[in-house]
Amino acid sequence: MNLKQKLIWIDDDKDHQKDATLIMKKQEHLEIIFLHPNKFKITEHCGHIYLLDDRLFQKEDEDQIAFDKRGLNLAADIRIDHPEFPIYLFTTDKVPKGVFGVLSQASEGLTDSIIEFKSIQRNGHIFLYHDSLDYERIRNTERKNVEAMVNLLHPQSFEKDEIFLAIPQVLKNGLSDPSDIENSQGNTNFYGKWIRNVFLQFPGFVYDSLFSATCVGMMESVFLSKKGEFKDAHYNGIFSNSRDNCLWWKSQLKRILYRLANDKLPIEERDNPYTFSEKIFHLKDSEVSRCALCGEKYPKTVAYNKDDEEERQPVHFHCSEVDEKKENRLYFDEIRFFEYPE
Ligand SMILES: [Zn+2]
Repeated sequence: MNLKQKLIWIDDDKDHQKDATLIMKKQEHLEIIFLHPNKFKITEHCGHIYLLDDRLFQKEDEDQIAFDKRGLNLAADIRIDHPEFPIYLFTTDKVPKGVFGVLSQASEGLTDSIIEFKSIQRNGHIFLYHDSLDYERIRNTERKNVEAMVNLLHPQSFEKDEIFLAIPQVLKNGLSDPSDIENSQGNTNFYGKWIRNVFLQFPGFVYDSLFSATCVGMMESVFLSKKGEFKDAHYNGIFSNSRDNCLWWKSQLKRILYRLANDKLPIEERDNPYTFSEKIFHLKDSEVSRCALCGEKYPKTVAYNKDDEEERQPVHFHCSEVDEKKENRLYFDEIRFFEYPE
């Protein structure tokens, strides 16, 4: 595998060149070719990853000629010539978040990700490089070998069958041939998008820190202070290096909790798994997970606030409802909401 990744950055604002230079300084394995859209030649400038400003029509090139299309239009052209390479679009606007994080139009659209410019400035040297490398890992996977595809997630062996059932139908026979442009539905970018926007985004196989904490019966801050105990549950598969936040395998969290209970608790105290952490770690009352609605201990899941979808809280099943309007995916947790009393 070629460790050096080439990024083609297409941008009408030459002030951003200094950001590109800074990223290369911080990430020596990333080479960035920075181009005004008028200078970009689709067959000549081939990269491992493309980064496009969406508003490409604002600033003229050195010959005072403006580009007359958006980044999204250019993305469509690049997609045809380079169907197996990721295209990231950036904007200076705020990217809308869904219930479980970024659920932008990227999930269905022409690009693989829509990002805010300031996140490129903050940690572009990490995620642009690692994402590019991870897309290359998918491209290098044996096309018809579904197990190799699933193995990119580094699952435990008992989990592979369920992941296979959860992956989209079009991928069940492996990745489509890269030359088969008509069938780009099942190509490497499609799989990459599913991993990033579904598998890692929706709770089910892996959990973020709030879900993980609730799953093992602790407040989130307490879980994070004890995360060393659960380090074997860390998600370290594809697209884990580019993330700001850790994820944990749900099944592994439970396994570790049961193992600790077996080691540390007398058998008569092993009836309710939700009380295990409290007993094993001698948690104070204030450290035990509590339902945001009724205030009682041992909420079993996490739901979002119906009036503010970005707020999520641990809740009991009987204190929350399944959101039938959201797409509830098989093999993933149901999407639930709660409402604070008036
Ligand atoms: Zn409750």
